[in-house]
Amino acid sequence: TQPAYQVVDPATGELVESFPYATDAEVGEILATSRSAYLDWRDRALAERTDLIRRAGARLLDRAHELAETMRLEMGKPAAEGVEEIEYCASIFDYYVDEGRGLLADEELPTRGEGRAIVQHRPIGPLLGVMPWNYPCYQVARFVVPNLVLGNTVIIKHAESVPRTARALEQVMLDAGLPHGAYLNVFATHEQVETIIADPRVQGVSLTGSERAGSVVAAAAGRHLKKCVLELGGSDPFIVLDSADVPAMADLAWQTRIHNNGQACNSNKRMIVMDEIYDEFVAALVAKAEAVEDTAHPPLASRAAAEHLAAQVDDAIAKGARLLAGGVLAQDGSARYTPAVLVGVTEGMRAYHEELFGPVAVVYRVLHDDHAVELANSSAYGLGGAVFSTDPGRARRVAERLEIGMANVNTSSGDGPELPFGGVKRSGFGRELGPGGMSEFVNKRLVYTA
Ligand code: NDP
Repeated sequence: TQPAYQVVDPATGELVESFPYATDAEVGEILATSRSAYLDWRDRALAERTDLIRRAGARLLDRAHELAETMRLEMGKPAAEGVEEIEYCASIFDYYVDEGRGLLADEELPTRGEGRAIVQHRPIGPLLGVMPWNYPCYQVARFVVPNLVLGNTVIIKHAESVPRTARALEQVMLDAGLPHGAYLNVFATHEQVETIIADPRVQGVSLTGSERAGSVVAAAAGRHLKKCVLELGGSDPFIVLDSADVPAMADLAWQTRIHNNGQACNSNKRMIVMDEIYDEFVAALVAKAEAVEDTAHPPLASRAAAEHLAAQVDDAIAKGARLLAGGVLAQDGSARYTPAVLVGVTEGMRAYHEELFGPVAVVYRVLHDDHAVELANSSAYGLGGAVFSTDPGRARRVAERLEIGMANVNTSSGDGPELPFGGVKRSGFGRELGPGGMSEFVNKRLVYTA
């Protein structure tokens, strides 16, 4: 038998609870319910939908501490970071509730003849969301909220490691008064994911996760001619061209690398630092890493994730890279891995090409701006990145040469519900959040009147 949805505490490796997979009959029922809920939901007044969704956001906030504790148990996120995640989710609810009417307003297009052309924004039907464990609430919120405001219904297949969070999110929606079927959780197998995508009642699928999963889901979407949005991995560059305060810059680089224990698609994964400040920058990073006490850092999301990361780092070391701090995999069966600093990574190593989904700061030395751009763009990924310089024009010029979906200039924090999120190249396609987050699964219906 396959492993089912399971809560395994990554701090101890202990199995806490298992949930069985949905039966095929249950999946059939979910599809029927989602479709019948859609026929009702899409026809409700926008104000009614937004009232209910506003209530759901408030309900989520009410449960912030409890949900943060659930996330800590399921995937190791410290509770304080869990509360921050829920607060950010609430801001996504507010954004689409407040802006929905404007974003969905009819647009009149100038015509070349006598007729009048209006473009309406209408829902398309039930959607599937395939979601990851790294931000178990936020990833779901940014897919679900704009689509529910728009009038679509959603079926969520969450990662197998976060079933309690998955259940709780469904309950939040029901408690807020959303009609049964507007938001449905399903503990689906991978095969059932394809069954859902294939079903004629389902009109699209959005996945956040690995390239492997993205490619399987996109292939299924292609086979069944369904729209799909993919938010995959990243290997975001953090480029420092020069700095008036190198230790402060290293501190920022460190914080953005270890946030969520390095398990974010848009974490700063490659620090690209100009030769003149490289040594001081690396020394400051090493001091940061050495200051982390052995037991004071959270576990990664699972033992398998920690072992995977350790193998990527070990491969680099075997091929000549140097580990300057951390990089110790716990021997007690937990998913702890001490935050690390790795230098001397070159093209023949896995760490050069693959996403390092954990607290490993990889630092590259570059000699000039073109070198920084070339190195940054040598990645197969193209999610986000940040460029820093005391000369804002120089930082911006470099940022605009990066093959990425989100370029930050002299900041690393270009995040917000109103800002588009997504990438190019192997980081996927489509956008979430911002106005674009509401225009992926929409029927931009032309109504042309003579
Ligand atoms: P996955 O991509 O396997 O998991 C993400 C979601 O996709 C889960 O719901 C998972 O379900 C589902 N999924 C996986 N394979 C299939 C399939 N064949 N058919 C249908 N659904 C599928 O991520 P992992 O947990 O394996 O993490 C591996 C790596 O992915 C990380 O190390 C990181 O590099 C990247 N990643 C990136 C994220 C991001 O934010 N962009 C988030 C998470 C991971 P199930 O749990 O049932 O397998």
